[in-house]
Amino acid sequence: MCGVIAVVNSDNAADLVYYGLHALQHRGQQASGLVVFDGENVNVVKNEGLIIDVIKEERLKTLHGNICLGHVRYATAGGLGLNNVQPFVCKFHDESIALVHNGHIVNSQLLRKKLESEGSVFACDSDSEILFHLVRNEKGDFKQRLINSLNKIDGSFAYILNRNNIIYGIRDKNGLRPLSLCINQDGSYVLASETSAFNVIGATFIRDLLPGEVVVIDGNQISSFFYAQRTSSNLCAMEFVYFARPDSFMDEISIHKSREKCGRILAQESSIQGDVVIGVPDSSLSAAMGYASESGIDYEMGLIKNRYIGRTFIQPSQALREKGVLMKLSTIPEVIKGKDIILIDDSLVRGTTIKRIVVLLKESGAKSIHVKIASPQIKFPCFYGVDISTSDELIASKMDDEQLREYIGADSLSFLSLDGLMASINEDKKYCEACFTGNYVTDIY
Ligand code: AMP
Ligand code: SF4
Repeated sequence: MCGVIAVVNSDNAADLVYYGLHALQHRGQQASGLVVFDGENVNVVKNEGLIIDVIKEERLKTLHGNICLGHVRYATAGGLGLNNVQPFVCKFHDESIALVHNGHIVNSQLLRKKLESEGSVFACDSDSEILFHLVRNEKGDFKQRLINSLNKIDGSFAYILNRNNIIYGIRDKNGLRPLSLCINQDGSYVLASETSAFNVIGATFIRDLLPGEVVVIDGNQISSFFYAQRTSSNLCAMEFVYFARPDSFMDEISIHKSREKCGRILAQESSIQGDVVIGVPDSSLSAAMGYASESGIDYEMGLIKNRYIGRTFIQPSQALREKGVLMKLSTIPEVIKGKDIILIDDSLVRGTTIKRIVVLLKESGAKSIHVKIASPQIKFPCFYGVDISTSDELIASKMDDEQLREYIGADSLSFLSLDGLMASINEDKKYCEACFTGNYVTDIY
């Protein structure tokens, strides 16, 4: 997870990044920050917490400059702690470099050991810092050093880098993590993980960066090159299932529409009689609507979310996560009492959420509960920056469907097939599906 954004060549760059970060906050809630440049001075504001708490209005008014980079963090590599909070800024000789990163470097330990043996001193545990040191160690002009460095990195990354007031937006050669480009009315360019950030600042979408592409923005000038000769397109399928906001587009596909299609295909693949279809708010509502319209069964609002509690999964421990589910959701008993419920969730990871919801629905008088998951069983860890990094945490890797059904206490349980998921995104393109199949798109170190 994590979200990155940059605004280049705008008088109110910090304001735009600040609002953009609000529209990316669902990608990470542990830390937020931005760095603004006015040509000479560099101003960094970052801390643990949500952007609304990290930067107050009075502080925002003091952040002048026409280039700004921002980040929201969900910690996977490097753990918690202020020194791992981005943006990172460093200086060596006549170079000033700042960077924000979304993704995970799978060969980071090897690279780090090598760099340390060559004299590099790291300021934090995060794998994002490695790019600084690689670039510093390489020979040649900056472009060549950047190309050489990126070719040493394996894994997933969307980087935005500011080097001496020139911005580089970089997408890994497998296109695992998203990064898009848009333009503001004042001609300034914006790079961001999701188009939801463009909507909030009123910018116009231009295009997604291609796998392996480096877009260079120097004032009003924009150009691009590829750092890798061989690229493949493997955007993370979980962006469509869960991570991205429903109003975003990725690969020019509406996230809401693809989730709705997941629901439709789920209804075709495993239809069942029921009285109402209920979705787990918020990320499952599009799929629940799709299921309802395909099956002809009424869609109802049976679960209510307390909107002031963050995403349950984005909690550092299992105990907090479980407490989070209860604090987060309540039922509307009038919708549930005496009914056969078809309950749609977008995915099943540790099983915490759905098990608790089944109990809640039973307590509210449900006659039967049929759980339908709008994605396939997640059985394999993700090494590309998503917090499902050991099989142990993945309940579907330890139980078959019948054991799972029993564990969550439902009357029936079914999952969307992998073909169904791919058909709901785009059958003609390839996506990373490693957490469903174990077929990783890079070496795993
Ligand atoms: P769990 O309770 O562990 O089964 O988590 C499942 C819920 O967490 C799903 O309903 C999703 O909305 C959400 N989710 C799925 N995958 C992830 C992920 N990798 N990171 C954060 N949240 C997730
Ligand atoms: Fe996304 Fe799963 Fe691939 Fe990780 S393994 S990048 S979560 S599809």
